[in-house]
Amino acid sequence: MRAKFEYLAPTSLDEVCALLQEHEGDAKLLAGGTALVMWLRMGLLSPGYVIDLENVPGLDGITYDPADGLRIGAGVKHRDLELCPEVREHYPLLQETFYKVAQPRIRLMATVGGNLSHGDPMTDPGASFMALDAEVTLRSSRGERTVSVEDFFVDYYETALEPDEILTSIHVPPPAGPAWSHIKFTPRSEEDFATVGVAVTLTGTSSRCDDARIALNSVGPTIFRARAAEDVLRGRDLSPARIEEAGAAAADASDPIEDVRGSSDYKRDLTAVFVHRALEQAAARLG
Ligand SMILES: Cc1cc2nc3c(=O)[nH]c(=O)nc-3n(C[C@H](O)[C@H](O)[C@H](O)COP(=O)(O)OP(=O)(O)OC[C@H]3O[C@@H](n4cnc5c(N)ncnc54)[C@H](O)[C@@H]3O)c2cc1C
Repeated sequence: MRAKFEYLAPTSLDEVCALLQEHEGDAKLLAGGTALVMWLRMGLLSPGYVIDLENVPGLDGITYDPADGLRIGAGVKHRDLELCPEVREHYPLLQETFYKVAQPRIRLMATVGGNLSHGDPMTDPGASFMALDAEVTLRSSRGERTVSVEDFFVDYYETALEPDEILTSIHVPPPAGPAWSHIKFTPRSEEDFATVGVAVTLTGTSSRCDDARIALNSVGPTIFRARAAEDVLRGRDLSPARIEEAGAAAADASDPIEDVRGSSDYKRDLTAVFVHRALEQAAARLG
């Protein structure tokens, strides 16, 4: 028999934090519900309390300031980010990423905070936020802290969130340069989760890479940065051989599981191919 839960509808962030503290470990937050409701229905979760964020102010809004960067409330929907003019102009990597998540019906419901907090290694936005050096703000009755998106993903469906914490916002620093690329490989259907996802940012010139950030999803227990691949490029020329070496280093760092999308070896090979391709695309965008 499916477990019953008590539905709670707080109207302030303080109230959310107090409820999370009171029911620590036995409460789940409900944002867009696109992941949580499915998990409840399948019996993968059976919390005693579900805390709805629908009526909680302070989780909305996208603001851009050239000196501060982009601030995104955790309750912002994927579709809002995809259509935001400032995001399109200053963070095309994010616009491209959110445009590729699922299909519009899901993007109209799903929130950015819910996407990251779910900790699903197959989701797309985490890699792009990582490539842009973003951080998240986590709040509880004990106070507030910020964590880099890179450190936020801890293990398979596990994040740095403590049971009494809520993710309230995401901060993306001012864009450092125009060179970026995002590749989501979905051979089965455009709306599918990625078989391999790659987000890249590069700074430098067309012949020399000053800095590189390469983040991957769907090819490991978490979304992660391919640091060894970045090291191949940082401070070096962007020759075809170097780019190929970086692709191979990213594949070495991957640890994909076998599933309906392919074997581990197949996904590892694809990782080399798509990191290579993403780096070529980003390098072509360097001035
Ligand atoms: C058909 C389908 C296709 C999909 N395809 C893709 C895809 O291609 N790419 C992709 O990236 N994703 C995909 N997704 C996943 C989708 O993006 C996530 O389900 C969604 O982003 C979760 O957001 P939500 O607001 O619905 O979260 P919810 O379902 O409400 O919550 C998800 C989890 O996060 C917790 N949570 C929610 N908000 C917060 C918060 N502010 N602080 C702390 N914890 C919180 C909840 O307690 C729950 O554990 C797909 C989902 C579906 C159903």
